[in-house]
Amino acid sequence: MAEILVLAEHDGETVKKVTLELLTLARGFGEPAVVWLGSDAEAGRERLAEFGAAKVYVADGQDVTDHVVAPAAEVLASLVERVSPGGVLLAATGEGKEIAGRLAVKISSGVLTDVVGLTPSEDGGAPVAEQSIFGGAIVVKSRVTAGTPIVAVRPNAVAPETAAGAAEVEQVTVELSDLAKSARITERVAQERSERPELTEASIVVSGGRGVGGAENFELIEKLADSLGAAVGASRAATDAGWYPHQFQVGQTGKTVSPQLYLAVGISGAIQHRAGMQTSKTIMVINKDPEAPIFELADFGVVGDLFKVVPQLLDEIGSRAGS
Ligand SMILES: Cc1cc2nc3c(=O)[nH]c(=O)nc-3n(C[C@H](O)[C@H](O)[C@H](O)COP(=O)(O)OP(=O)(O)OC[C@H]3O[C@@H](n4cnc5c(N)ncnc54)[C@H](O)[C@@H]3O)c2cc1C
Repeated sequence: MAEILVLAEHDGETVKKVTLELLTLARGFGEPAVVWLGSDAEAGRERLAEFGAAKVYVADGQDVTDHVVAPAAEVLASLVERVSPGGVLLAATGEGKEIAGRLAVKISSGVLTDVVGLTPSEDGGAPVAEQSIFGGAIVVKSRVTAGTPIVAVRPNAVAPETAAGAAEVEQVTVELSDLAKSARITERVAQERSERPELTEASIVVSGGRGVGGAENFELIEKLADSLGAAVGASRAATDAGWYPHQFQVGQTGKTVSPQLYLAVGISGAIQHRAGMQTSKTIMVINKDPEAPIFELADFGVVGDLFKVVPQLLDEIGSRAGS
């Protein structure tokens, strides 16, 4: 069975959930082999084994870790040449998509990004991908017809499932080009960690928009998020107004999320906002305007003032949690 290379996303200690999702997907098409960049593979090995990684290729050293995306593409290109995998899976994050594009150029293969589903093809060729395109307005089916399929999959597109794997570690040494080393990382600043789940990985996201009315009122959105174990998101109107930090903006020029449940509170549903959330599995809306376009996407909608609806929702969640 051919190997399926999976580029691990990790922070040196923990393996990101999207990597476990990619491993789950990879098992349907071949033998999952993780590509881990950095010296800390032991930290993630157990978790990778739990989700079926047969192998872990580790590329280590300052050249790999101290430069932005280019080394990752060169390591993957070298492994593709060496092991002729059945495909390469990456996370459709900003970084993952850039690596995917660079890799595609290096190995003259087709690349698919923003993939939300992957199924085997009936003729035994490259798998068929469902891709969310044009800002999420259309879902198309596509497949790579040239070279090794490179597929960047959106976080939360599949549910991670465990399956035992050996996660056998193999060190790989790749001679990187000077070009790959031209952009060096000079400093790393650890982001303050909140207790909330990471926005793009969360199963539930509660987002607030202009309707929230001010920075101080975002406390209500945070309370609702915390009652559900959710991440907090925001529309651009809210982040541009300085009510919530830009890193939590959902949409075309913000983060793309695809949680099990997305709660849009006081958000109208502009096309640029939809682009970042409309592949969410269930969408719930609270908006006082029954004509707000966001209702077109809603599985469940409440027409009402969020300052009346959200406290009632919190009471209800609280009473259920207590019962
Ligand atoms: C190039 C470009 C990129 C963009 N990228 C993004 C992006 O990444 N993400 C993004 O979000 N936007 C983006 N935008 C902006 C986008 O076009 C909208 O302006 C923005 O999404 C509007 O945010 P909003 O829905 O919070 O505000 P509004 O459109 O002002 O909607 C506010 C909503 O709140 C409701 N409301 C008001 N008060 C209450 C209340 N008390 N209770 C309940 N409901 C209430 C109103 O009925 C209204 O529907 C982009 C725009 C451009 C041009």
